[in-house]
Amino acid sequence: MEHVAGRFKHLTSQGASLFSGLRLGTIRNRLLIASMLLVLLPMLLIGGSSVLLGLRGGQAQVVNQLESVATLKEEQIVAWIESLRIHMGAIVYPHQVPRLIEPLLTNEPGSTAYTESYNELRIHFDGVIASTGLFEEVLLLNPQGRALVATDPAKEGQVHSLQEYFWRGIEGTYVQSLSSATAQGLSSPVVVSQPVYDVAGRARAVLVGRASARTLNEIMLQRAGLGETGETYLVGPNYLLLTDSRFADRRTQILRLHTPIMEQVIRDQTNAAGIYDNYRQQRVIGVYHWLPSLQFVLVAEQEEREAFQTIYATLQLTIVIALTAMLFALISALFAARGIAKPLASLADTATRIAAGDLQLIAHPRHNDEIGALTVAFNRMTARLRELIGNLESHVAELEQAEAEVRRVNQQLARDVKEQELLNRLSSRLQQSQSLEEAYAVSIPLLQEIFEGYAGVFYHHRDKAAVYHRVGTWGKQDDTYPDQITSTCPAMQTNTRFAYPNNEGKAQACADCLPIRDPLLCVQLHANREPSGLLCLYGEPGSGNAEEPRELSLAIRTADLLALALASLQLREDLREQAIRDPLTGLFNRRFVNEILGPKLIEAQRHQRTLGIMLLDIDYFKHINDTFGHDAGDTTLRILGRFLSTSLRGEDIACRFGGEEMLLIMPGMTEENALSRANNLREAISNLDLGHEGQRLPNITTSIGVAIFPEHGHTHDELITAADHALYRAKSEGRNRAYLAKPREATVYNP
Ligand code: GH3
Ligand code: MG
Ligand code: MG
Repeated sequence: MEHVAGRFKHLTSQGASLFSGLRLGTIRNRLLIASMLLVLLPMLLIGGSSVLLGLRGGQAQVVNQLESVATLKEEQIVAWIESLRIHMGAIVYPHQVPRLIEPLLTNEPGSTAYTESYNELRIHFDGVIASTGLFEEVLLLNPQGRALVATDPAKEGQVHSLQEYFWRGIEGTYVQSLSSATAQGLSSPVVVSQPVYDVAGRARAVLVGRASARTLNEIMLQRAGLGETGETYLVGPNYLLLTDSRFADRRTQILRLHTPIMEQVIRDQTNAAGIYDNYRQQRVIGVYHWLPSLQFVLVAEQEEREAFQTIYATLQLTIVIALTAMLFALISALFAARGIAKPLASLADTATRIAAGDLQLIAHPRHNDEIGALTVAFNRMTARLRELIGNLESHVAELEQAEAEVRRVNQQLARDVKEQELLNRLSSRLQQSQSLEEAYAVSIPLLQEIFEGYAGVFYHHRDKAAVYHRVGTWGKQDDTYPDQITSTCPAMQTNTRFAYPNNEGKAQACADCLPIRDPLLCVQLHANREPSGLLCLYGEPGSGNAEEPRELSLAIRTADLLALALASLQLREDLREQAIRDPLTGLFNRRFVNEILGPKLIEAQRHQRTLGIMLLDIDYFKHINDTFGHDAGDTTLRILGRFLSTSLRGEDIACRFGGEEMLLIMPGMTEENALSRANNLREAISNLDLGHEGQRLPNITTSIGVAIFPEHGHTHDELITAADHALYRAKSEGRNRAYLAKPREATVYNP
């Protein structure tokens, strides 16, 4: 099945390729073929039918003509035979013939009477032959059939008693055709015999006249109405040719004409007609007449070629006319095709090129006809199409623009959302920060996220110093930024919060500020209308215009957020400092001691460490106040505070416990080294230079009471009480000394 389907597919594809090969698809070729068919088909029908009818009618016409000729010939033969009969009678009926016969019958040959009669009859017979020309031989037969007188003396004495013309000629005039005459070498096929009666009316002899073949031949050879190839002849029942043929070789006398039609005519003794090959092997139309009087067949025939010559000429003429008509049709079709197909092809070509995109093309109408109107309509349609496409293109461009704008806005929105989310995170993390350090630590990674793709550095100052400290960096250039820069940015002297060093020619100012490559953008942090930091970005400028790139707004928002959060933390730290610091000495205050000592003790307990506290009191401080004034006392306290905050170890904490009494918390200090450290401290304090308003104050001494956790107490109060007791002892025992608290009596620590 698949094979058949494949075969069918193959055939259809072959058909399609043949169709395309003939290019029947073009109007021009279809016009040409239609014109050809329009001419050819009628011509073929007319020519074919006319030839067919002509052949049939022509054949009937030829047969009729041949029939007429044959009938005419037949009548001529009948007339000729009749004339033979008449002339035969004319030979006999003169009275001398019966008279001259008698001596021949009764006398012996050689007798005078016999010889005279014989001579006279010979003369008579010769005269008849010469005068009529109808006979070629005349014989006189006696009742026994022997030839008494013959125009050919050699035949005298021959006996003809068995011949039909003899025994029928005794009874009356008889015409016999000798169908075998030609075969027998005789020249004439017709013999006429007639009795010769004596005066008593008895048949005494038979006169036989052999007809001359010349007349018969003349009749047959007359060609009236038979054209160039027509002829008539006689044929005997033995199919032998009896008369001369126009075309047959005369030396060949005997010709057998055995055709099927001839056979039928002789057998049925009827007339017939037909087309056949004659004795010359030519195709002929023939008419056969059976001549009952002679028992011969009269044949009249004509070559088919000549008979149909007119038909053939008609056919040729038809072909010539058809070819001429086709030629004219071809030429007119070519002109018509040219007039129709060429403008259409041009229009189709233009349409194809327009379809390919060349919308500016215009088809040119050639004539003011239907195709011209089509071309004009096509141009109008193309113009409309052009306009529509133009509108469409502008709409598409607008749509694309709008889409791009939407996309840009969406991107901007997404970026803004992301930035806002990051800013929110930054704000949240900053708010959660407990100190500036913590805020610094959380801000840098978020800044890196916020300013993705940029390198950057963040400076901040946490005090009122004239420098910004580097908080942190991100991006590639983090190790090239200075640790601190001046807080007065030269590029921002004009009361602006930001600077574009590259854009505004402030590269030198920035170089002074940030001795690295020019930043893209710097934004100042403002807290309480005061500069509090600097946020600098490095990298390629992003979207936005030159005056206000996108990163500026983000940087300002970030800077504001940072400034506010850091200022808040700063304020908190300041307040806290104020809450726990003693403003005169800069040491922690007593409140701080109450806050810090408990946790420090817990920590020491957890780590199994000792913790010492020293209660330090200036000796006779009242005397300084009294002697040098209260301010001098303050100065003394200030100098002592500065000394304590700078000379103690990192984890030691110095507090002003009250008046001129200081508490030192010293994690890790043991009972063994407590007194030595206290004495060293006392020693150092006693050597402090105390100057106030240009006058030197006397050195001070201190008394110190020391208590150690856990030996002297486990709680805040226990330890302070123990230290206080030790201090009291030191005071009471002379001052300027340090005492260790006494061990507690059987106290158990149970926090
Ligand atoms: P002692 O050796 O017994 O400690 O004698 P002292 O004079 O130091 O002790 P006292 O407690 O009698 O005097 C303490 C004085 O310290 C009283 C007070 O006026 C003074 N004082 C306390 N606080 C301040 C301060 O902040 N500034 C100044 N100038 N004096 C202060
Ligand atoms: Mg005191
Ligand atoms: Mg004192």
